[in-house]
Amino acid sequence: MSDDCLFCRIVRGEIPSDPVLETDELLAFRDIDPKAPTHVLVIPRAHIDSLSAATPDHRALLGSIQLAAAEVARREGIQDRGWRLVTNVGRDGGQSVGHLHYHVLGGRALGWPPG
Ligand code: 5GP
Ligand code: ZN
Repeated sequence: MSDDCLFCRIVRGEIPSDPVLETDELLAFRDIDPKAPTHVLVIPRAHIDSLSAATPDHRALLGSIQLAAAEVARREGIQDRGWRLVTNVGRDGGQSVGHLHYHVLGGRALGWPPG
């Protein structure tokens, strides 16, 4: 937990969010600036800086995050047409919030490769 981390503050309920799915270990909520019709962020409740900071101790948590992302896609009704799971890491990866998060994106055709 970090006092000034934006997503830790969302986990603590200090900043409101629009939740899609919640479990003991993770939270999924709508991105405030959606880049696609479905744009949901899946985050661990525990603070981890990024995927680069994950360790083997996080193995089960990382699996849970991927399964939660697939559940979000089901709930959003985009499981059949397709969707994307992305985590941005560090400066070159375009990470702007330093708390591990995965973007669930869908509801439109997504370009590849990213810019
Ligand atoms: P990143 O750029 O680090 O991969 O993704 C951070 C995401 O967090 C961005 O898509 C941004 O729109 C989203 N975001 C930033 N601040 C807030 C907020 O206060 N609430 C929500 N729901 N999303 C946020
Ligand atoms: Zn945090």
